[in-house]
Amino acid sequence: MVHLLLRGESLGITSPPIDAILFDKDGTLSHSEPMLRALAEARVFHCLALAPEAGCPPEQHDLLHDLLKRAYGMREAGIHPAGTTAVAARDHNLISTATALTQVGLGWPESLALSEEVFALTDRLHGQGSDAPPQPTEGLVKLLATLREAGVRCGIISNDHLEGIHQFLGHHGLTPYFEAHWSAEHRPRKPDPGAVLGLCNELGVPPERCALIGDANSDLRMGRSAGVAIVLGYRAGWSQPVDLDPSFTHLDHWRDLDVVAGTPAGVLRA
Ligand SMILES: [Mg+2]
Repeated sequence: MVHLLLRGESLGITSPPIDAILFDKDGTLSHSEPMLRALAEARVFHCLALAPEAGCPPEQHDLLHDLLKRAYGMREAGIHPAGTTAVAARDHNLISTATALTQVGLGWPESLALSEEVFALTDRLHGQGSDAPPQPTEGLVKLLATLREAGVRCGIISNDHLEGIHQFLGHHGLTPYFEAHWSAEHRPRKPDPGAVLGLCNELGVPPERCALIGDANSDLRMGRSAGVAIVLGYRAGWSQPVDLDPSFTHLDHWRDLDVVAGTPAGVLRA
């Protein structure tokens, strides 16, 4: 059991004790934006290259380009932190790709088939087989070590596939810090509050003894709906500031989080 303090201040009037923390992955544990941007760009590239053969008229090329960029949440400055590429699972991104293709005249079967082909060509850029898994966010490893020392169980709740989660953790030596994972393969998936309950069950800790930390409003509202004791918005994982619901407490660096084991006299600085 520990208490969390933010910049030395209690979180909430009662500062509830917790036994576990549920972390989002992309944009929270990891600086995923460069990888996600490369993935989205590659999907656009292959989709534009293959669309003419599938029946997309040449005069619709520019419209398709624009539709795909909008669908994937691609901006001049980077990836929209709450866009499809950032928060949605692979199959949802695939459906959004197929939907864009229908808007330039393709039928649904052809749109789905082309989307499957494009994703098969680009999956290696996201987790599976990637040479460059995203970097952990600054100060994360120190925090995880502090949590382990204090006996806090950590889990990951992500819409990435298990393979991508394991690759990120393994590449950076973080596997031992996490006791359970809730991935795109699990049901229900986030942002269903049932995903939180499922991960809590795997960790053996009830939600009222957990904290949840994520970089998307959908993460935060999911945690609140599931009855998680402490829900924190993490804002430092993206090139652009993440616009988070102000009704939640926000966190801008892991060093701002203190882990207090037992009494406040036993503060363990992360
Ligand atoms: Mg995220």
